[in-house]
Amino acid sequence: MIPYSKQNITEEDIDSVARVLRSEWLTQGPKVKAFETALGEYCGAQYCLAVCNATAALHLACLSIGVSSGDIVLTSPITFVASANCAVFCGATVDFVDIDDESFCMDPKQLREKLEFYVNQGKSVKAVIPVHFAGQSCDMQAISGLAKEFGFSIIEDASHALGGQYHQSPIGGCQYSDITVFSFHPVKMITTGEGGAVLTKSASLYSKMQRLASHGLIRDHEQFENSEEKNWFSDWSYQQIELGFNYRITDIQCALGICQLARLDNWVIERNRLATIYNTLLNGSNIIAQKVSRACLSSYHLFVVLFPGVNERLAAYRKFRELGYGVNVHYIPVHTQPYYRRLGYKLGHFPKAEEYYRRTLSLPLYPGLDEMEINRICNIVTGRVSE
Ligand SMILES: *Cc1c(COP(=O)(O)O)cnc(C)c1O
Repeated sequence: MIPYSKQNITEEDIDSVARVLRSEWLTQGPKVKAFETALGEYCGAQYCLAVCNATAALHLACLSIGVSSGDIVLTSPITFVASANCAVFCGATVDFVDIDDESFCMDPKQLREKLEFYVNQGKSVKAVIPVHFAGQSCDMQAISGLAKEFGFSIIEDASHALGGQYHQSPIGGCQYSDITVFSFHPVKMITTGEGGAVLTKSASLYSKMQRLASHGLIRDHEQFENSEEKNWFSDWSYQQIELGFNYRITDIQCALGICQLARLDNWVIERNRLATIYNTLLNGSNIIAQKVSRACLSSYHLFVVLFPGVNERLAAYRKFRELGYGVNVHYIPVHTQPYYRRLGYKLGHFPKAEEYYRRTLSLPLYPGLDEMEINRICNIVTGRVSE
């Protein structure tokens, strides 16, 4: 089976994980710190916290900027459910902003309309979570301009986009946002099995997220609240100053992450080379690939195409499955999920996202995918391979 994506694991990866298993620290040890340092440096962000998955990372990000009951948070309907759920975890109301029909990312023009809609109701939006869909950055200059005008925080869901760039700067540097989130699930750009990270330029957001990821505990005696024990405090002392979680990642996972990160740049180059082959082969057909803006270097986590209609898409999907290709659909619009319909969303609310969903397919793309395979895949997509 040719999957739409797959991880790349070497003997070196395995050896580095095995070394951790033979060491003193399985968790909260030196590999976690080393991975955080390497990732922070790679992205150009001052602060990096590695956590157990991107869902937890998004939750921490929302909590740290103060998302709470009664707040409004906006994201894209074309994303994995976690981008929306994180705000619901905090008791907030989630609303969506429809996509641009060429980049498939949140459309800043529709974001402005939605913000004005809320302003007219006397409400304000607490946070916006743009999703860098398939590895291409959203129009962050436009979105951050709106943040200044309307006063909301920005959490970039960059689960797809590690290794990508926006205006020549690595995604994750938080130039246009408060916090950036990455995922290290095996289908994503690099993997730690399960894993995620939050990056920020803000010392206070970082320490808030660090505390919430570890039960809400502090160990710095200077910050302790009641001081009756002060004279006999020692290293055992800690205080729980708020309600936190255990969202930590292990040294076992981070050892893998360090090795993977070292190969990321080559993978991005290779994914871009393969995407160019796809684009060349599909050029002139009735299949439309995601348009990548000149401002972006996409990480090409996914290679997404649109068919002319729902029937052509279904026929191609069936053909692929019959021939052993693990093509997939990313994503079912979040607002059409039963959970979100119960919150009041209906089919028809985000027409561009819904139209996209009827026509889309993610084609196989990963380093090591054979060029001949791409040829064959394009023949299936364009209907040149029939019965
Ligand atoms: C994968 C993904 C997530 C969730 O990542 P986990 O690490 O599996 O929790 C969130 N948002 C987007 C856009 C994703 O693709």
